Amino acid sequence: MSGTLYIVSTPIGNLEDITQRALRILKEVDLIACEDTRQTRKLLDHYQIKNQLTSFFEHNEIRKIPEVIGALQSGKSVAVVSDSGTPTISDPAFKLVREARTQGITVVPVPGANAALAAISVSGLPTDSFIFEGFLPHKKGRQTAWKKLADEDRTIILYESPHRVLKTLAEIQEYLGERHVVIARELTKKFEEVLQGTPSELKAHFEKLEPRGEFVILITGKKYFEKHFK
Ligand code: SAM
Repeated sequence: MSGTLYIVSTPIGNLEDITQRALRILKEVDLIACEDTRQTRKLLDHYQIKNQLTSFFEHNEIRKIPEVIGALQSGKSVAVVSDSGTPTISDPAFKLVREARTQGITVVPVPGANAALAAISVSGLPTDSFIFEGFLPHKKGRQTAWKKLADEDRTIILYESPHRVLKTLAEIQEYLGERHVVIARELTKKFEEVLQGTPSELKAHFEKLEPRGEFVILITGKKYFEKHFK
């Protein structure tokens, strides 16, 4: 009998944001596959959990998949965690899950924190229908992505690094116009902040105060914007 593969969500900042079940699973499994062992060790130490870790990140994923599948096939149970939030969401492990399913291995979610959902839940933007784009391509394909998003009626959710926030705001202005935008920064952490405004207002803000930390950018869908903001 194969073991079970658990996809375990961990906090996106505040260490209290982890479920009782996640803590139990992290204690009970035979092996934890994690992105950065130092990061996961910090979380485990905080909860006094001792368990075996193996690194599993974007650049060793392909090499590591057979090893993790092998452990599962020999009856071991494995938990996958990423550095923050839900594994597979703009994080590794999608290919591992796909392979586990192909091999008939049971894959179980242990849900919890996720930056995109936390951000939209406090954004005041429509949540009935939204599109999660993760990180837009940095160069090739970025312009095409913006052109497609210009007519999008659903709320758009993007992840962005602090270095690209100003560029992204300028691009929203260029391709989508002065749409209503919400920026959720450092959610669940000390400097948590949710700002809203037009791309030019937000750009002016971050030109004065250098963007720092982790960002989710939410953009109002076209139809909703035209109905409620014009
Ligand atoms: N797997 C994670 C999840 O479930 O949200 C996302 C991992 S992705 C590599 C990291 C990005 O998520 C950051 O660059 C940022 O865009 C967003 N993010 C993560 N934590 C955040 C936080 N506390 N506040 C705002 N955005 C966050």
